[in-house]
Order: sequence, then C-alpha cells, then structure tokens
Amino acid sequence: MTCDCATCDEKEKAARGCERETADRRHWWKLEGYKEPFRRCPRKLTTPTALYVAAFAGLVGDGVFPDAGGWVDQAAVYLRACSVVNAARAASEEKKRGRRNS
Ligand SMILES: [Zn+2]
Repeated sequence: MTCDCATCDEKEKAARGCERETADRRHWWKLEGYKEPFRRCPRKLTTPTALYVAAFAGLVGDGVFPDAGGWVDQAAVYLRACSVVNAARAASEEKKRGRRNS
C-alpha cells in the first residue's frame, strides 16, 4: 500500500482522504462487491493487523514466512488467514479475467 498516514503531510492527507473523504478522484479506489468507490485512505478503513496479514499472505507465495522454518512452524491462525486472503485474491483475479474475455 503506497500511503502511510504517519508520513503524509497535511496536503497529502487531504488528497488521499486520511482525515475525511477526498474529492480527488485519483485517490478513490474500488473493491469487489461494492458499487460506490471508497473515498477514504485505505489505512483508515482497515486495521494494521489486516494489512500485515494481506502483505504476508502475498509473501507466502514466494516461500517467505513470518516465523522461522517452513509451513509446519507457522501459527495455525496465520495459515488460515493466508488461505482466506489468497482465496479472495484468486476469486478477484478470476473475475477480472472473465471481464477481460467477455
Ligand atoms: Zn492515509
């Protein structure tokens, strides 16, 4: 995620929607299943834990784990969270491919 609210100055926070909805369309973003675009900074609409899980789930595909060792050394709840994130990503990619081919 490109925005880090802690490092944004006031002008960037206003443009990215860190404090309130932004009118700057360049910073609006969409999410599968939602009709309207989000006009707030994504970091304000989720939790740090959810962002870490999403980031680490992406690294697992490259064989990088948060804890030392392999699959069996990782926390079960973490592996389950990775499964949920990766299934959602796969479904989203499949939907995008379907739209491109239609
Ligand atoms: Zn922000």
